[in-house]
Amino acid sequence: MKQENIAAVSTPAGRGGVAIVRLSGDSPLAVAEKMFAPAGRTPVAAFEPYRMYPGEIDAGRFRDFGLCVYFRAPHSFTGEDVVEFHCHGGSGIARGILSRALSLGCRSAERGEFTKRAFLNGKLSLSSAEGLIDMINGESEAEVRAGYMLYREKLNGIADGLQAELLELLAGIDADMDFPEEDIEHTDLKDLAARLASLSDGLSRLLTTYAAGSKVKQGVNTVIAGRPNTGKSSLLNALLGRDKAIVSDLPGTTRDAVEGTIEIGGVRFNLFDTAGIREAGGEIENIGISRARSLIDGADLILFVLDGSEKMCSEDREVYERVQDKPKIVVANKNDLGAEEGQPCDIRVSAKTGENIGALREMMLQKSMAGYDADAAFLIERRHYDALAAAKEELERALSLCGRAPLDLIGVHLKAAWDKLGEISGRTATEEIIDEIFSKFCVGK
Ligand code: GDP
Repeated sequence: MKQENIAAVSTPAGRGGVAIVRLSGDSPLAVAEKMFAPAGRTPVAAFEPYRMYPGEIDAGRFRDFGLCVYFRAPHSFTGEDVVEFHCHGGSGIARGILSRALSLGCRSAERGEFTKRAFLNGKLSLSSAEGLIDMINGESEAEVRAGYMLYREKLNGIADGLQAELLELLAGIDADMDFPEEDIEHTDLKDLAARLASLSDGLSRLLTTYAAGSKVKQGVNTVIAGRPNTGKSSLLNALLGRDKAIVSDLPGTTRDAVEGTIEIGGVRFNLFDTAGIREAGGEIENIGISRARSLIDGADLILFVLDGSEKMCSEDREVYERVQDKPKIVVANKNDLGAEEGQPCDIRVSAKTGENIGALREMMLQKSMAGYDADAAFLIERRHYDALAAAKEELERALSLCGRAPLDLIGVHLKAAWDKLGEISGRTATEEIIDEIFSKFCVGK
């Protein structure tokens, strides 16, 4: 099939050392021939693939001296012929070179079009493309690692393996239905049920990893709550390692949720400070209070802060009641002023001296990311969770029919499970899903 040449600047806009203009399609080398004058003796048409050639890049109105490299189909990112110009990293330079390529017949690439072509040409699966976006968008180490695993087809490999097992079961069922009179029983119902149960268990284990995996992607939303003056802003600053929130002796000065992010064990934590939750107060404070409440409702983790040197008061209890059913760590602060016994505390710290802040960070990781193993396969994408959950449901339906319904009906559910598993690789994904995924990419990727 003929593939029109597309072109885009693949590096971010702005100034930098180097920028890359990428071309992909049937004949990007023919375009390069018209706009690149090699410094050496090899003409563009005779370029060896995967080798950098220095030379003059002709942008029409100006020139740059840079490099040109040719990747030969199918051994390129897109699976098509690809040419890259590595020029100096000014956006004017890269844009000029791109315009020249467009004037020579290339079309401006759409968002993610290079990767979409790679997917359509069988170079990577849909989940691998999603991993690539996760890596590109990833800020924390955990997000980049998780994206890389997806990109390198770890999840796809698992889904493929499950599909292969289902196919084997389906083949047995088909054979039984095609030759029912033959003596050979292809499908032993007991065996079938056992295999379905084990497949379903495997899926369950994978599905439970989404609880931690979704937090790898979004960050753990951590809300610091407690009555005024217990040291919430000071604790936020101690965790952030800088003076961000306003600290004051007057109760009620933290009027808004102040956000900052930290990484613990490579995982991103989004920290929110809350205004003291108090019924009394001025109008502005009331806005802060209602915001604090909605933050608490949406939190993955609460750091409930007490003044550890004092007895718990009714105001403390009021906040405690609100956060009671949430995953939380009770932090008794101001340990430098002494420890009041009998408080429901998980850890004693001092935001002022930094005592135990490291231990609190560890506790935050353990409390919110139970079962998280950065090296094992885990789910970070809602789409993958939904597809696998639907596959599991089909398997369970099939399992419940074993011995109670004809084999072909069981087969229908197995086929449906197979289809759902295929959404991971994209083999059975709809065009809408595919388009939506690639629209999240930037231009040039
Ligand atoms: P918030 O209203 O809960 O945000 O509390 P702030 O962080 O504004 O702190 C209230 C007061 O307690 C300030 O005077 C802080 O300096 C003080 N404070 C905070 N943490 C500590 C601590 O660990 N030890 C001591 N001694 N004072 C603290």
